[in-house]
Parts: sequence; C-alpha cells; structure tokens
Amino acid sequence: MQNEPAEMPKIALRAIRSEAGLSLAQTAEITGVSKAMLGQIERGESSPTLVTLWKLAKGFHLPLTAFLEGAATTPPAVNFPESIRFRTLFAFDPTLGSESFLITLAPGQTHISHPHDAGVVEDIFVTEGTLELQLGETWTRYSAGAAVRFAADQPHSYRNPTENPALFHNTMHYPRI
Ligand code: MN
Repeated sequence: MQNEPAEMPKIALRAIRSEAGLSLAQTAEITGVSKAMLGQIERGESSPTLVTLWKLAKGFHLPLTAFLEGAATTPPAVNFPESIRFRTLFAFDPTLGSESFLITLAPGQTHISHPHDAGVVEDIFVTEGTLELQLGETWTRYSAGAAVRFAADQPHSYRNPTENPALFHNTMHYPRI
C-alpha cells in the first residue's frame, strides 16, 4: 500500500463552477478560497491541499469525490500537497448519500479537518496501526479493528502518535445532499 503509485489529484473545479453559473469571485465568496488560488487550481497550476478541497466541497454543498476527476471509474491514489495519503474507495453515490476513502497517516502525522456541512456524519474504521481522533478537546485512541461514528459538522482532527503508518477507512454520510 505504501508503495502504490500515487499522483496529484485532478480537480474538476471549472466544470462544477460553470455548471453552477458562478464567477471566480462568487466562488471565492462561498468557499473562502481566494480567487487567485481558484484560478490556479482551474488551470492546473496548483494542486489544492485536502483542506482546500474540503472548503470547495462545503461551499458547493457537494461531496469531495465530485471534485476528483476519475473517482467514479478508476479511483486513483492521490497525494495532496503537505497532506495525508488518500485513495477513493467508493465515489459519492447519491442513492446512499455516502462516499468512502482509505486514508494513511504517516508516523507522527496530524490532519486537521474543518467542520463539514450541517448533518454530515463520518465513520472511521481503523484497518492498520493506531490513530487518535480529536472531537472537542478530547483525543481518543483507536487501534486496528476499532470503529467510530461521529458528527462531523464540528472541528475534528486525526493524528498518528506511533512510529508506524496508520490506515483507516473513512466514510462520509451526507443526509442532506
Ligand atoms: Mn472530516
């Protein structure tokens, strides 16, 4: 898994923005991502961080995989800059209202996730290693085999406090999409 080739994600921002009929300025307003950065992402000059991509998803009220080209057919493993290793397992399915990812946290790595849209629920199922999840002020440790479901419309963070990689399945539930 660690050696599986990964690429920078191709982001379908321009298509989504034009379908929504929004200008770059309007898109900056609803997502909180600067116009300059939006333009760079659309032109393929800059690869967004995972945090930025989640801001786009939240601003458009769309699942993350709506922005990942190829996610529905041949989900690629992607590496976001300065971020966690990330692979789509199941692209968003509108009937089920969910999408699933496999996430790898390197030893010592922390990932901060901003609150998702109201009502969004996350499942985490640890498949390898140990990770810690922060909800509110509390960090809780989970090891391989552990499962946790939590309201993801609040700040939450993941970290790997060990010297081995931590892998987990992450399913996003969107009851209102
Ligand atoms: Mn999250």
